[in-house]
Amino acid sequence: PSGRDGEVSKAQRAAAAGEEAGGQPTIFSKIIDRTIPATILYEDDKCLVFRDVAPQAPVHFLVIPKRPIPRISRVGPQDTELLGHLLVVAARTAQAEGLADGYRLVINDGKHGAQSVYHLHLHVLGGRQMGWPPG
Ligand code: C5P
Repeated sequence: PSGRDGEVSKAQRAAAAGEEAGGQPTIFSKIIDRTIPATILYEDDKCLVFRDVAPQAPVHFLVIPKRPIPRISRVGPQDTELLGHLLVVAARTAQAEGLADGYRLVINDGKHGAQSVYHLHLHVLGGRQMGWPPG
């Protein structure tokens, strides 16, 4: 059953999340488990959407899979459907948040990408003009 999204045991989640985190579940596993609070905008069996605790734009939320893939560079063909789902949920939530003038999607990977939480997450930032190139 481990291959099915939403049917992953706590132990499997902890093992995957611990890849880059010394064996500890990440803070996002605790948000999924409701061990720590977050402002949740959307949830289904595969993903969770919540506001970033340190927003970098007037609207800044994160889309995470419930299955704790540690980082985008670790995905494989088995993740194709899940990753597509995360993008669709990101776009729908952006629309619900009123980001009609556009927004920025960001995935940070690893050291050079300045990733700090090793549980895959899409940042959605909007409500102001973004610059390019990003820092
Ligand atoms: O992409 P990166 O790993 O750097 O982003 C992690 C994000 O998770 C940060 O924007 C941080 O503010 C956010 N965060 C959060 N709630 C927590 C811990 C981190 O929204 N409890």
